[in-house]
Amino acid sequence: MKLAERSSWTNWGGNQACAPARIARPTSEAELVDLVKAAAAAGQRVKAVGAGHSFTSIACTDGVLVDMSGYGQVLGVEPATADRPAQVTVEAGIKLHRLSDELDARGLALENMGDIDRQSISGATQTGTHGTGLRFGNLSTQITAMRLVTADGSVLDLSAERDRDTFDAARVGLGALGVVSTVTLACPPAFRLHAVEEPVPVDDVLRDLDDLVGANDHFEFYWVPHTRWALTKRNERTDAAARPRPAWREWVDDVALQNVAFGALCRVGRRRPALIPRLAKIIPSTGRLDYVDRSDRVFTSPRMVRFWEMEYAVPREALPEALNRVRKLVDQIGVPISFPVEVRVAAADDIWLSTAHGRETGYIAVHVYRGTPYDAYFSGVEAIMADYGGRPHWGKMHFQRAESLVARYPRWADFQQVRRTLDPEGTFGNPYLDRVLGLAASASG
Ligand SMILES: Cc1cc2nc3c(=O)[nH]c(=O)nc-3n(C[C@H](O)[C@H](O)[C@H](O)COP(=O)(O)OP(=O)(O)OC[C@H]3O[C@@H](n4cnc5c(N)ncnc54)[C@H](O)[C@@H]3O)c2cc1C
Repeated sequence: MKLAERSSWTNWGGNQACAPARIARPTSEAELVDLVKAAAAAGQRVKAVGAGHSFTSIACTDGVLVDMSGYGQVLGVEPATADRPAQVTVEAGIKLHRLSDELDARGLALENMGDIDRQSISGATQTGTHGTGLRFGNLSTQITAMRLVTADGSVLDLSAERDRDTFDAARVGLGALGVVSTVTLACPPAFRLHAVEEPVPVDDVLRDLDDLVGANDHFEFYWVPHTRWALTKRNERTDAAARPRPAWREWVDDVALQNVAFGALCRVGRRRPALIPRLAKIIPSTGRLDYVDRSDRVFTSPRMVRFWEMEYAVPREALPEALNRVRKLVDQIGVPISFPVEVRVAAADDIWLSTAHGRETGYIAVHVYRGTPYDAYFSGVEAIMADYGGRPHWGKMHFQRAESLVARYPRWADFQQVRRTLDPEGTFGNPYLDRVLGLAASASG
């Protein structure tokens, strides 16, 4: 195991930094257990970190930072049977892009993915990372078993059959219950997606939203502020042969347009915000894309322009009204917004702190270019989402506290009970968790 004395750590967005007393990089479960035990005995707090792609300070610590990047092997694959899909067990630090390659080599895939594949499996699942598609849950719903190292150094084997309550708490555990050592994922056979991306007037999208999310496996759209346009993405599962974009076209679409040109637009917009509404009109003119490729290559793309993001989960049927209110807000706040607003959907699930717990869910995500003031925009959006019982993404920016969140999660008290049992001294706490969950020892039900 590698150790480094006091050092500094920053997240991808560059808006969170901390100075851990120690950074440890375990390469086995035994090392993980030893370092949790030693830290707890010394009264130090412990925080595991995946890829630092959360926008909140959820991964920050002044105690022991456990860098999971050296602990990411595939441990085992159980082939599919008549009753259940293939089961793949991995060390928790594996990054999603490597996992996708490992799965593809075995004829398997992740069921659904978000916009990028740079996160670790444990970081992504601990915050409830999701993609889009009404028939699909977030990444955590693919977990069928996991091993969790708790504050006293025990390793819990969790699944629906073994300690169901702790399993339902720990699949989206915010890193508050212990360090996830391994996860087992139910994986479908590898599949291809037929992608069609095109601009459509946003009012038409909202009018047809039920049909669009019902008829397409994975539908999402980006409303471009200061325009009447939405960039739509329809991804359908297909048996058709791969018809990928030529490499040059992929580079033009994903790097030159979405990142280099868009980054330039953001930089101009930051210096001269008044130009943003005019510049925004260029975005919907990027044209239509139609291709077939491996699922993870369609779901995810590179994100080189650094930004800050807030995302709220609301009941799915509230999406059109909530988005229309965000459109009005953008007109009212008087601060031009350069980043498109992303809208997605997901199936209901039974994970206690999942943002899709118990309800079919619509997601609205707002972004600003890194370094741009966001208070008026984000707090305005947050106030709108409160009217729909909105639940903030745990890894994205928000201003909620435990007191304002308790009523939004039916199993909140049960989660707190598990937390008190597994982490009575608050070993896995940090200021972010103190704010959104309350202090571990006194966590209120
Ligand atoms: C460019 C970009 C695009 C994104 N796109 C999406 C998207 O499409 N959909 C979506 O839902 N989200 C998205 N996110 C958010 C992102 O998926 C989450 O914030 C995710 O948690 C980041 O994973 P990570 O590995 O970087 O975790 P980190 O940010 O490093 O950690 C997140 C949390 O997980 C905990 N953790 C990590 N490893 C462990 C472990 N082994 N045991 C216990 N706790 C652990 C940390 O302590 C922390 O609490 C995006 C973020 C960025 C920057």
